[in-house]
Amino acid sequence: MRILLFVSLFILFSCGSDNSDLEQHSQLYRVQSTANLDMLLKTSSELVVEVVYEPGAEPYTDKNFRNRHYWTFLESNLQAIIDLRGREVTLTVPKELADMRMIAIQDKTSWTAQEIESLVSSSNFTTATSAKGVFKVIFLKGHFKSDGVVKDKVLGINVTGTTTIAIFKDVVEEMGRERDDNIAKFAEQSTLVHEIGHAIGLVNNGVKQVANHQDTAHGAHCMNTDCVMNWQNEGATEMISFIENYFSSGSEIMFGENCLDDIKAHK
Ligand SMILES: [Zn+2]
Ligand SMILES: [Zn+2]
Repeated sequence: MRILLFVSLFILFSCGSDNSDLEQHSQLYRVQSTANLDMLLKTSSELVVEVVYEPGAEPYTDKNFRNRHYWTFLESNLQAIIDLRGREVTLTVPKELADMRMIAIQDKTSWTAQEIESLVSSSNFTTATSAKGVFKVIFLKGHFKSDGVVKDKVLGINVTGTTTIAIFKDVVEEMGRERDDNIAKFAEQSTLVHEIGHAIGLVNNGVKQVANHQDTAHGAHCMNTDCVMNWQNEGATEMISFIENYFSSGSEIMFGENCLDDIKAHK
């Protein structure tokens, strides 16, 4: 039982944030850009999560056991970031499928970061401005491909240097088949929170650390195993305790203290 849980949750934090195929083109893509960080953390009076999906890759939009929409997990975590910054920002997070937009079937088995970016640019997302930050979320069929290798366990990526987040729905659904639907639905939300965490500069991804907590061996990730920005938990016991702690804490906030401190202190 514990082994099974480990296997399915191992991919929960697997994340394609390395984006080496973009890195070879530009140094700018090593971390989130200053312009995007300013927009997301300093200047916007409005923050929008805009979601599009391929047919067959629809996000989960039902309600959880607390009779709340799954997307309130993402909403609460983004609101916590806004509150930490001490700013008045109107936040829009879609909760129903009707608030999201279907795009054409892409018929692709794998996606590089560049291919994702080019689909984003042809998908009519709202243009971001310094007053209006936009997270461009795209739910895809097929798997992430980096350096010519298909990463069939990667749930999602943030294309480094952008506010694009891709969710690989086939991998999410596989978790549902291996475990149960509730795990998959929770994983979809925590992946969104994790990737948006990268987009807002975590860990050391454009936002400086207050205390040293970057897991440098794994890139822009957090050493805290109870933090959503951890790249994975090391074993079944830690996995279970992550979930137990999360649900028993009574708080929906998935970021650990070090990550929250960094966001708060960002100048
Ligand atoms: Zn990551
Ligand atoms: Zn953290």
